[in-house]
Amino acid sequence: MTEDRTAVADRNQPGWAETGDGDESVYVVKRIFREFIWPRRKLVLRSMLTMIFVAATTGALPFLMQTAADRVFIQKDQTTLYILPLVVAVVMAVRSLAEYSSRMTEARISGEIVAELREKLFRRLANSDLGFLQGTHSARFVSVFSADTLVVNQAASQTLTALVRNALQSVALVGAMLWLDWVLGILVLGSLPISIMLMSKQRRKLTKSVKQSLSGSGDIARIVAQTLAGIRVVKAYGQEASETARALRHIESTRDAGLRTQKTRARTGPFTEGLSGLGFAAAIFYGGWRGIHGGLTLGEFMGFMSAAMLIYQPLKTLANLQNVLMEGIIAARRVFSILDEEPKVVERAEAKVLLNPAGAITFDHVTFGYNEETPVLHDVSLTIQPGQKVAFVGPSGAGKSTLLNLVLRFYDPASGVVRIDGQNIADFTLASVRKASALLTQDPVLFDDTIRANIAYGSPEADQAAIEAAARAADAHSFISTLEKGYDTPVGEAGSLLSGGQKQRIAIARAMLRGAPILLLDEPTSALDANSEAHVQAALDGLFAGRTVLMIAHRLSTVKRADMIVVLDKGRIVETGTHDELAAAGGLYAHLHKTQLSGAGAAAEGGNAA
Ligand code: ATP
Repeated sequence: MTEDRTAVADRNQPGWAETGDGDESVYVVKRIFREFIWPRRKLVLRSMLTMIFVAATTGALPFLMQTAADRVFIQKDQTTLYILPLVVAVVMAVRSLAEYSSRMTEARISGEIVAELREKLFRRLANSDLGFLQGTHSARFVSVFSADTLVVNQAASQTLTALVRNALQSVALVGAMLWLDWVLGILVLGSLPISIMLMSKQRRKLTKSVKQSLSGSGDIARIVAQTLAGIRVVKAYGQEASETARALRHIESTRDAGLRTQKTRARTGPFTEGLSGLGFAAAIFYGGWRGIHGGLTLGEFMGFMSAAMLIYQPLKTLANLQNVLMEGIIAARRVFSILDEEPKVVERAEAKVLLNPAGAITFDHVTFGYNEETPVLHDVSLTIQPGQKVAFVGPSGAGKSTLLNLVLRFYDPASGVVRIDGQNIADFTLASVRKASALLTQDPVLFDDTIRANIAYGSPEADQAAIEAAARAADAHSFISTLEKGYDTPVGEAGSLLSGGQKQRIAIARAMLRGAPILLLDEPTSALDANSEAHVQAALDGLFAGRTVLMIAHRLSTVKRADMIVVLDKGRIVETGTHDELAAAGGLYAHLHKTQLSGAGAAAEGGNAA
């Protein structure tokens, strides 16, 4: 089983779901059966037992028809006239009850499978590596989550049950037809192998259009997400028409793929129906001839014809099942490609809980790259004492954010070790390592919930007093109290109902409440205006006290609050020291000070003064 999983995971990127051959299909079918059907075998069995009733009662209908014609119409038998309707009523009642029960069980299996798929996908999503999530468009997850799971479910639950239900009914009806007159039976059923051959010929075409249709739906979801995320820019640059045109291209090509699928499917209809029409015509001729020349009663003929008509629907469904299965396989590959993504950052089996860390951080000869070919950090060594405030300065792309990512163990170094209080962070549970740090970014992340829930995010045990204390310390309480619903005010999607400074102060309150000894800052005041920045700075000062602080600095005002400045260039530490030392040394820092830091810093400081 493990080997199978690895085999799929390796074929995963990018989008192995789009390719594939027979072996993969067999693997996917086996896996759907093993993971989703087998655990529900009792339900499946129950559904199948009821289907036996459906099949048996269906098979009885032609004989009832035969009896009605022969005994009632030909022999004028009064007793049969009274008994037959009762028998028919009972048979139909049993049939419909069995059908109802079988469909209800099927619906239950189906609902459970969709829910299980979605639960598994969400768990995988929540526990995936940042690297995988960032490398995959979020809309792909959404489309797999909403559309593909339904298609997989359709294949998983319906293929099996529909296969059994329709196969049983077909067997019962074929049996009835051959029993009533085997020559007639062969005449009508003779077209069947040809129809099946025709349908499987269409499969290749169908596979292509179904794949296009599913990935097209993913593309549409991606464009909608992208446009909504960037709607301010879209409007500001007047790109509504071009975005609409781009969306239309995908919408139309998805529509065309859907249409091709339906056309291919529908095309088999006239052929197969024409063929079965010929079978019927031959049966009427031969049956009529035998009727005239003796050997076939009217009842036998009518019983036979009703079986021939009844068998049409189950046979059609059976023939269509391979398409349902094929669509399911394509969708399942897309689902499995996400489920099989193995996290690279894993917790060791013997991982300990990092208890009450003091907040010392060491980078010990750390080398790291987001991919193996291009290292982003080269042999970085640095020791930060508990309570020390360190500013990271350097040109864009130097690796400053990457260093913070490693402290949170979002990624593992390729070589070297990151330590907290002298101990390798890989020896501890991921949760306890991440709990040691609070991260504040330029664009604070708020969830579509109340202010209270956002402050208490990650600290579910916090009571109102603690939440309020954190908000006061973050200079947020005053603005929260002016809101009509106070702490129960919803912040809107991604905090859209609040200003940048308000969002940042809520994020600071969240960090306060979490009480982490290490603070990781990615220039949280850079996106704010002067007035908001003054508030946020004041809040940050409260947060700094007693904590180890690693801050990415683009401004002089930030740098000046640090005990130590670390200058990074192209993934290496090129200078360390205080502002005065480094400014005097005439190196990269002095250059940055003159160019980037001074301008931004002056503006910020001017803003503060205002
Ligand atoms: P800036 O000041 O512009 O934010 P930075 O010093 O923080 O830059 P990093 O974000 O650490 O720089 O990026 C260092 C290098 O790693 C850059 O070359 C960047 O392109 C690359 N990089 C960053 N994140 C990823 C990622 N998720 N996947 C691949 N490469 C990445």
